[in-house]
Amino acid sequence: MIRTEQQNGIYVVTADNPPVNALSNGVREGLAKAIADAGADPAVRAIVVACAGRTFFAGADIAEFTKGMQPPLPPDLCDMIEASEKPVVAAIHGTALGGGLEVALACHYRIAVPSAKLGQPEVKLGLLPGAGGTQRLPRVAGAELALKMIVLGDPIGAREAAEAGLVDRLAGEDRLLADAIAFAREIADARPLPRAGGRTASADPALFDTFRAANAKKLRGYDAPEACIEAVRAATTMPFREGLALERQLFLKLVMGEQSAALRHIFFAERTAGKIDGLPEGTTPLPVRKVGIVGAGTMGGGIAMNFLSAGVPVTIVEMKQEALDRGVATIRRNYEGNVARGRLTAEGLEKAMALLTPTLSYDDLADADLIIEAVFEDIGVKKDVFKKLDAVAKPGAILASNTSFLDVNEIAAVTARADHVLGLHFFSPANVMKLLEIVRGAKTAPAVLATAMAAAKAIRKVAVIAGVCHGFIGNRMLEQRQIEAVKLLMEGVTPQQIDKAHVDFGMPMGPFQMADLAGIDIGWHRDPQRIESITDALCAAGRLGQKAGKGFYDYDDQRRATPSAEAQAIIDDFAARSGAAKRAVGSEEILERTLYPMVNEGAKILDEGIAQRASDIDIVWIYGYGWPPYRGGPMFWADRVGLTKIVESLKKHGQPVAPALEAKAAKGERFNR
Ligand code: NAD
Repeated sequence: MIRTEQQNGIYVVTADNPPVNALSNGVREGLAKAIADAGADPAVRAIVVACAGRTFFAGADIAEFTKGMQPPLPPDLCDMIEASEKPVVAAIHGTALGGGLEVALACHYRIAVPSAKLGQPEVKLGLLPGAGGTQRLPRVAGAELALKMIVLGDPIGAREAAEAGLVDRLAGEDRLLADAIAFAREIADARPLPRAGGRTASADPALFDTFRAANAKKLRGYDAPEACIEAVRAATTMPFREGLALERQLFLKLVMGEQSAALRHIFFAERTAGKIDGLPEGTTPLPVRKVGIVGAGTMGGGIAMNFLSAGVPVTIVEMKQEALDRGVATIRRNYEGNVARGRLTAEGLEKAMALLTPTLSYDDLADADLIIEAVFEDIGVKKDVFKKLDAVAKPGAILASNTSFLDVNEIAAVTARADHVLGLHFFSPANVMKLLEIVRGAKTAPAVLATAMAAAKAIRKVAVIAGVCHGFIGNRMLEQRQIEAVKLLMEGVTPQQIDKAHVDFGMPMGPFQMADLAGIDIGWHRDPQRIESITDALCAAGRLGQKAGKGFYDYDDQRRATPSAEAQAIIDDFAARSGAAKRAVGSEEILERTLYPMVNEGAKILDEGIAQRASDIDIVWIYGYGWPPYRGGPMFWADRVGLTKIVESLKKHGQPVAPALEAKAAKGERFNR
């Protein structure tokens, strides 16, 4: 894993641990030995630490967090490198991340190719850099940049790093090793060596509160960022050794805590989600060079943007010119928003728009490899569309439906290519939300599933395989939550109380805020005279949600919500007629009664094989609905709460208990191993 060679007094240490040169037990051991050997060899004047393959050390071996680490531990390795009497130069290409950047910081000098990226993403796993990074980075690059890198976990490019003094020199893109050796020769006799662990970093004491305030919304609910801030602050107030001790203490607390366990679970869950059960060996995805989309409404436009942004040409079909124009204008406006926010260049916008072909003719879909239907949620309409698509699409083209609830098998049955039909369920807004449910029909061919998975990756979605049922994974569980939330209204609990309990739990919004955002009229029968539910009454009163300026809440022109007397009167009227007893219900009970039924439905979804694995359900909720990542998804969370407790609570509140859940609880099993 570690190779060494001497070139005229320069000792070159090269790590080779594919794929990303993780700092595994073996790599650390080899590095420590190489540094010691170089120190003991009188012919060596300087040391270069480099990596083979596509990247510098891209971090620790995360699996070792649970399996255990052998000495030298990363902090000790870093101390040892920094203590070397011979100058050590880190030669960086690819990404120097986490423990990788900490090793580079322990080196006395850093040289990097311009394309390299440097970062401390530990916070994303609920941790902080635990090998001196919180103490060395502020001392080398200043507290302000250190805060940004350590607390937000976002990497920076080599040029920015060079400006900040984090990188001492930029190498030629294809000459890293030669330039590193030449640099090592230049500084071979420099004394004293620049040791990051020397002086205390200086910073304006107000910096930390300002940073906290500026990022409060983003960091809400997470433990690790605050620990990161505390550690970086220590680098500006404490001697190095004391700062290291504090870093260690904070790291150990985080690494053993619930949040990091949850975030590590998601890290692995996301990678596992891409595996499709039962795919024959050697199944290869089909090429997707052209995409067709039917319907340029809310979803069709967003779906189109995903492919356009990835450089795939899209033909989009509408029924009427007016709807088509509106859809195309919305796409452009959304891209313009990205340009305004600096996320896209003006050329990027035009490049994406140039790939879009708007049309009123289905015939223009004849050369598409993949056609995604996003028309009204109506089985009759969808069947008509699929009949037409089957007729115009070329042989071998894949036909997908973005349906939220409908039976994909029934849709597939109207075509002569049921093996090439599946669901591709995007989440709104489709150009933003990362989740894609790939709905596997009874006849969907393996290569079609593999194509969908590959296409998801190409447009940077996280995809999960779901089976056919009403609402698939996400919406099927959501429906249970909504039913229970409405029952709470009947007992006199207000929408505000219910929403607040969910927001305090960490959700971006509560059930009624979400209903208002999505539109209360989704699935409404559209007969204002027929009032059988609260939503019927709200719709009849024109309270369709945010788009109408009123729903469960009232909205001002900035879409800011205030409680609504009219909506409350409608709710009270239904509550009075329901005969449910009014009582005070606390936040804890609100959460139990709305979230445990979701877990119960999740157990059924697993038992029926609708989801391949519990961790896929967690991914659906995190990337599709904003479940707080630090709680690991509903199934991971349920394991932590305890399945027995959940079963008891469901029974206590007279809510259904799935046999699969009850059996699991009785056996003392968990959803996620
Ligand atoms: P929408 O009403 O905004 O858009 C539907 C568009 O389809 C309209 O512009 C309409 O003119 C067009 N259309 C209807 N029939 C057509 C036909 N035969 N040929 C061509 N165009 C036709 O609806 P939406 O919110 O984009 O929903 C579309 C689908 O996506 C539905 O199945 C819905 O359940 C699903 N979905 C919606 C959301 C959401 O939050 N809105 C999320 C996930 C999935």
